[in-house]
Amino acid sequence: MYCKNCGAQLPDNAVFCTECGAQQAAPPPPPPPQPQPTYQQPQQPVYQQPVYQQPQYTPVVAASTADAGSAFTFGLLSLIFCGTGILGLIFAIVSKNKLKAYLAEGGVLAGKAKAAKILSTLGLIFSIFMMVYIVIAIIIAIISGLSGYSYYSSYNW
Ligand SMILES: [Zn+2]
Repeated sequence: MYCKNCGAQLPDNAVFCTECGAQQAAPPPPPPPQPQPTYQQPQQPVYQQPVYQQPQYTPVVAASTADAGSAFTFGLLSLIFCGTGILGLIFAIVSKNKLKAYLAEGGVLAGKAKAAKILSTLGLIFSIFMMVYIVIAIIIAIISGLSGYSYYSSYNW
């Protein structure tokens, strides 16, 4: 090769001219890496998973409170009417159902709901006791009545 500046003959791989010092052609850069023919994956269309939005249940505070309140009321009624047996039992069952609905709605077992549970349970137990007592009392009354009748009839016979 020859110097681009002064024309002096230079070794082929000379970077600077040995005569004038001019910079010769920069050493050939290493060949750029051949871009590998990368197989471009065809862009898969991204399927957006449909997000199933759970219907947002906004807790209806008033309704929940009412349910807990009515469960409490019926629990109280079941305790008041447990002396009648059947009526107390009905109120206790209504109270328990209302409480169950309230809890299913996401109600918290606290305050009136907790009181309703205690009242309805007590009402249920007392009502069942009273029903058993009433049934026994009726049976005794029937037996004694029958025997009384038989005594009476035997006296008058
Ligand atoms: Zn030169």
